[in-house]
Amino acid sequence: MNDNIKRIDPRRPFIITADGLKRITLGEVGNGVVLDFAHGGHKEATKPRRTTAPATRALLVAAHTDRGALDDHARQALAAAALLADDATEVVLIAFGEFKDDAAALGADRFIELPAFDRRNYAPDEEVRALTACVSAFTPAHVFMPDNATGDGDLGRRYAARADASIATQVVELDHAHVASYAHAGRAFASRALPDVVLLAANAVDAKLPFVGAGEALSADGIVPAAKVSAYVDLGIEEMDAAQVALEEADFIVSAGNGVSDIAAFETLAATLGAAIGASRVAVDDGKFTRDKQIGATGKTVEASVYIAFGISGAVQHLQGIKDCRHVIAVNLDASAPIAKRANLTIVADTQETIRALTDAAAAARASRANGASIVQSAPVAEGVAA
Ligand SMILES: Cc1cc2nc3c(=O)[nH]c(=O)nc-3n(C[C@H](O)[C@H](O)[C@H](O)COP(=O)(O)OP(=O)(O)OC[C@H]3O[C@@H](n4cnc5c(N)ncnc54)[C@H](O)[C@@H]3O)c2cc1C
Repeated sequence: MNDNIKRIDPRRPFIITADGLKRITLGEVGNGVVLDFAHGGHKEATKPRRTTAPATRALLVAAHTDRGALDDHARQALAAAALLADDATEVVLIAFGEFKDDAAALGADRFIELPAFDRRNYAPDEEVRALTACVSAFTPAHVFMPDNATGDGDLGRRYAARADASIATQVVELDHAHVASYAHAGRAFASRALPDVVLLAANAVDAKLPFVGAGEALSADGIVPAAKVSAYVDLGIEEMDAAQVALEEADFIVSAGNGVSDIAAFETLAATLGAAIGASRVAVDDGKFTRDKQIGATGKTVEASVYIAFGISGAVQHLQGIKDCRHVIAVNLDASAPIAKRANLTIVADTQETIRALTDAAAAARASRANGASIVQSAPVAEGVAA
């Protein structure tokens, strides 16, 4: 077989990026996305405003936040609207939940924060009411939402049904004129004109934007009616042990490399923090962890919000597995290790000492929280922190 032949799957959708549409080519590493360290501690160059012209038209983006931030999927929905908007179109974000992100950097021109809503509380009737009010206020040409199972997919479908709006779900490809989704269990590729409500599948859009929005905060007063008590009875979310979650789905991962010698202490830390366990290939090859814990090019690709790398150098094959993690924290004796370029925070310290200090601090914080006292703010490990 000739390895030089690049196979293109004609049914693979286009990805919308700031440079236009891009077809994924099989054989390209990481969906063709070049690894960069934009998430690291480096300052990004100042980006221009997308448009400063007066807006005559709006695109609305609605998404739930998670602990004050939009997740990657929601950012992609926002980026989709910003990339499709012309100079006379403003992008308005409706954030269901507390919103502390940089709206301008994410592409929003105006945003409304609705802190009364929380993705962990199920109140679909009240959310539909709020979204309907926003659509009435801004009369957007289209509404973009991430099609996820954590609130937005449900809200988008409910809104479209209530408003009798046209809708496309699990959209994997879109441009100014059309959207496309897989149909018939993936055996067909269905395309249609851009509907009123676009529910985007994950990774249909490259969320990196070459511009910023105006990022103006709007008050919800006068636009969104005050939330009433939902008619739905919410039984709440059942918490589960992070160690039971598949690594690919874990939101918090602690990962051990060759620089970790006391595995028992490391596992105690993971249990204390409630984090899933990952490992570098060297740690797995040494027999310290089972192969299913390996993260990287020949292991698993993870998307945790927080990834703590203990004694991991940050070889390119390892970085490939953590490219979608939001916050990477490295603990390493060597401040110049490659992981430090990818990390948002590097702690230049010995792993064993840091693991002990963190375990003590986490246990103390848990205990004081259980006693109703305030959480311990500082751990001894903070002394060795380098930005
Ligand atoms: C085809 C191929 C595929 C691969 N796939 C993968 C993969 O999927 N996943 C993967 O991880 N690797 C993979 N590798 C291996 C990869 O190239 C690296 O060799 C590996 O990731 C290194 O693991 P490490 O960082 O744990 O170990 P090392 O490279 O030995 O680094 C250890 C780090 O720990 C630090 N350290 C040491 N002692 C301490 C201490 N006491 N306190 C604090 N820090 C300390 C050191 O400064 C160093 O930075 C692959 C390689 C190839 C060729």
